Amino acid sequence: MSRELFEKAVAFHGHVCGGIALGVRACMEAIDRLGIRFSEDEDLVCVTENDACGVDAVQAILGCTMGKGNLIYYGTGKMAFNFYNRKSNESFRLIAKPKKPGGPKGQAYIDFVLTGPLEEIFTVTQTRYPLPEPARSLATVTCQICGEGAPETKMRLQDGKTVCLECFQDYNRGW
Ligand SMILES: [Zn+2]
Ligand SMILES: [Zn+2]
Repeated sequence: MSRELFEKAVAFHGHVCGGIALGVRACMEAIDRLGIRFSEDEDLVCVTENDACGVDAVQAILGCTMGKGNLIYYGTGKMAFNFYNRKSNESFRLIAKPKKPGGPKGQAYIDFVLTGPLEEIFTVTQTRYPLPEPARSLATVTCQICGEGAPETKMRLQDGKTVCLECFQDYNRGW
């Protein structure tokens, strides 16, 4: 099964690399532990802590995407993924182990990541963030300066006018 998933992820990502292999292995764990093969709605959520190659596997294999609201980026820069099953409330986090100096390289590294013992590739921990609430549809408000619409949670008040983030002049005293 890992070969089929790997090919699906590579087709989406555009090239073969160690990062996409790590993402595929993380997805295999999510499928095993959370019992969801592909998320057609928001039942499976991923909070990714990096925006590197591996996230493309999460989108291609698990169907966690920005558009559906079940892929959330929290940029610690760590090679870590938090997975949640909204229906069963199960969740876990994976963080990649540092690459061993003198360890396998190139195709041998990819094979190791896809088929090697999990404990040599990832550390499994509890998730670090509460499960994000499901995506809400918010009322659109029109900016009183540029006339463009944006959700109400993104608007600011300025001189008594409702304005968008692009028109808002931030007032920062540099504490
Ligand atoms: Zn890549
Ligand atoms: Zn505006």
